[in-house]
Amino acid sequence: MKPAHYVNGAFSTAGPAFPLRSPIDGRQVGTVPEAPRALVDEAVTAARAALDGPWGATGVEERCAFLRAIADGIEARFDEFVDAEVADTGKPRELAATVDIPRAIGNFRAYADLSYGRPDRAYNTRVPGWSGTGEALNYTVRRPLGVVAVISPWNLPLLLLTWKVAPALAAGNALVVKPSEETPSTATLLAEVIDAVRLPHGAFNLVHGHGTGAAGEFLTSNPGIDAIAFTGESATGSAIMRAAAQHVTPVSFELGGKNPALIFADADLDEAVEGTLRSSFTHSGQVCLCTERVYVERPIFDEFVRRLGEKAGQLKDYGPMISAEHRDKVLSYYRLAVEEGATVVAGGGAPSFGDERDGGYYVEPTVLTGLAADARTVREEVFGPICHVAPFDDEAEAIRLANDSPYGLAATVWTSDLSRAHRVAPRIEAGIVWVNCWNLRDLRTPFGGVKASGIGREGGEYSLDFFSEPVNVCIKI
Ligand code: NAD
Repeated sequence: MKPAHYVNGAFSTAGPAFPLRSPIDGRQVGTVPEAPRALVDEAVTAARAALDGPWGATGVEERCAFLRAIADGIEARFDEFVDAEVADTGKPRELAATVDIPRAIGNFRAYADLSYGRPDRAYNTRVPGWSGTGEALNYTVRRPLGVVAVISPWNLPLLLLTWKVAPALAAGNALVVKPSEETPSTATLLAEVIDAVRLPHGAFNLVHGHGTGAAGEFLTSNPGIDAIAFTGESATGSAIMRAAAQHVTPVSFELGGKNPALIFADADLDEAVEGTLRSSFTHSGQVCLCTERVYVERPIFDEFVRRLGEKAGQLKDYGPMISAEHRDKVLSYYRLAVEEGATVVAGGGAPSFGDERDGGYYVEPTVLTGLAADARTVREEVFGPICHVAPFDDEAEAIRLANDSPYGLAATVWTSDLSRAHRVAPRIEAGIVWVNCWNLRDLRTPFGGVKASGIGREGGEYSLDFFSEPVNVCIKI
């Protein structure tokens, strides 16, 4: 599979190529074309033309049929998609085959179902006139935003890309999509599927390349863009917001996190340990929803730390960091934690396998204790397999500690006291709070963060609301 751009219905490898490396052994496995500014501009122009042409004339029924055909197209090439996702990210095959690719298919089907049944006109009101203006009938129509830039990260490449592409197409927008430079392959396969179902040319365009000073920035600074849907780091969100400010372009942002888990003494300890193991170490901590701060009620603190540390030390079948650069960043936090006074309960370094993986970008699952609340390791997002465990004494302190962060994406609460769960959950400054579980997802529910973790919500109606604009029509009677 060779990564290629897809602009106005044509594949190309325009622009200089940069190497694509396998995170599993560090070897170069291919090259990625770096889209020049002219190609990005061409993609935006093609998207605009699609809105003025056949794509703009499609009804919701036709668009939903396209979404279903795309879902079927991915399903028909399921193994190729899994192979490509595993090759780019190094994630365990089982994860790609049970989460990434099925969810991408699910995203298209869910938005076909949701959009098909959604009225595109609403709020009909007939109002008696006031101030002598006479009676009027008001109704509201939802229009697509227009040309939408979609920019996505490397951790769940196809899942997060399609989480925006599906609702944006359902709502009738034309897209220019830029996946992460680290993970170009499944986006290219998606373009092949979209080409095969004969989506009108220009409705979906794909450009590859880097962010700063490259394809990403060419896209966000293009005056022809009507909205930006972005998932990635909070610092990148700030940079994109500065570019968006120039043309007051609306943004939907899913950004970083430093997610807390609160474990109360009345929790089922087996489940809390297993759940925290999953929430901290799934995809080697490279999921935005992963737990990096664990707070445990003091009577069970020692027991919890012992059991979590033991299990983390036994983890064997874990994947690498996405790149050498990211591995170095995570290892620098492991060293910083020790400098800041941490006790290393498990992990803390890079593993040695004695095989090809020693050329890859692996780090050990790491459990720490003993850091102060203001330690950088406790405050900054590491985005690796690391968690710090600290004790708390009562509910109020647990909530205060959970909220003591610039981020506010997701949290987990482990307790067998139902009243406590209902009391604590809404007081946590986060977009999503899981009680006695983690990452249990219903695609219709709101998804997103507060504070530095994002702007807006995705999921169900929330995405369809972002990707369309209500227009009120007022008819004087
Ligand atoms: P990143 O911000 O480095 O890159 C994300 C995308 O933005 C890439 O496609 C990149 O090329 C592009 N980009 C970078 N600089 C840009 C610029 N100046 N202008 C335009 N585009 C630019 O993020 P990443 O390292 O790929 O992903 C990891 C981050 O994503 C973590 O912080 C993680 O928490 C976050 N994330 C958040 C969610 C969520 O739903 N909230 C989900 C997954 C990942």
